[in-house]
Amino acid sequence: MWQIETQFIEVIERLPGVKSFRFPRKGLNLRYRAGQYFYVTIIIDSEPMVHHFSFSSSPSEKQYIEFTKRITGSAYSRTLDNIKPGARALIEGPEGGFTLPITKHKLAFICGGIGITPVKSMLDYVKHKRLPFDCVLLYSNLNPENIIFKKELDILSRNPNISIYHFLSSSSFSLPPGYYDGLISKDAIKLIIPDYTERIFYLSGPPSMVKSLGLQVAQLGLSSKSIKMDIFTGYK
Ligand SMILES: Cc1cc2nc3c(=O)[nH]c(=O)nc-3n(C[C@H](O)[C@H](O)[C@H](O)COP(=O)(O)OP(=O)(O)OC[C@H]3O[C@@H](n4cnc5c(N)ncnc54)[C@H](O)[C@@H]3O)c2cc1C
Repeated sequence: MWQIETQFIEVIERLPGVKSFRFPRKGLNLRYRAGQYFYVTIIIDSEPMVHHFSFSSSPSEKQYIEFTKRITGSAYSRTLDNIKPGARALIEGPEGGFTLPITKHKLAFICGGIGITPVKSMLDYVKHKRLPFDCVLLYSNLNPENIIFKKELDILSRNPNISIYHFLSSSSFSLPPGYYDGLISKDAIKLIIPDYTERIFYLSGPPSMVKSLGLQVAQLGLSSKSIKMDIFTGYK
């Protein structure tokens, strides 16, 4: 585990209500594995307040570490929303076993909304390190405007071993190839990922979403050993 006092170096608005925050990494021993999370403590009204976040950056990115948060009405969120480069934070980590396997494998990532953060870290890592994983991502959002990291995912999907499919639950648009209407279901998984029995499944997002995705995947008859979950407590 590492623990350091540091400062924010960059804030990036990804979408209205979703921001990425970066801390410097260059020359520091901040080791982590793609898909893990860390703790960020900031001072609010003279009191320290901590939340945990998945890394949304890849460990192969040596300049910075990044997390990405959905901005809510909480005191923590409101403070983060107004944070400027130079503001101080205590960061500690890494933790979590929502990580890539050690050996070559077929993988399926299924997530919704803000649950994309650890998956983005893992897919970036697979790309940068040219790892021999065959990756399929099914990503669920309300509509195209809600897709976090849309540009980055489009670039990742140009990799021959990374396929990305979007599910839009409230879209009135005519959908381009690679986009599906409605929620992710076990039938959709069977259709898009015919070799699903050979894959390790990674499910991430708010608790209600992971629960419902977990049910769909369990109904496919996969053993619990083939299913990894990252549940973002603090959301509904
Ligand atoms: C493994 C993991 C990874 C996560 N990754 C992300 C991510 O990448 N992006 C993202 O937006 N969110 C992530 N979360 C959720 C995040 O930690 C916050 O809970 C969430 O952002 C809601 O915080 P808030 O400030 O909006 O609301 P708040 O009102 O501050 O929090 C909502 C509720 O969760 C509780 N809570 C929040 N954080 C903690 C904590 N650290 N310990 C105990 N209770 C807590 C609060 O007490 C409150 O009851 C992750 C959670 C987990 C468990």
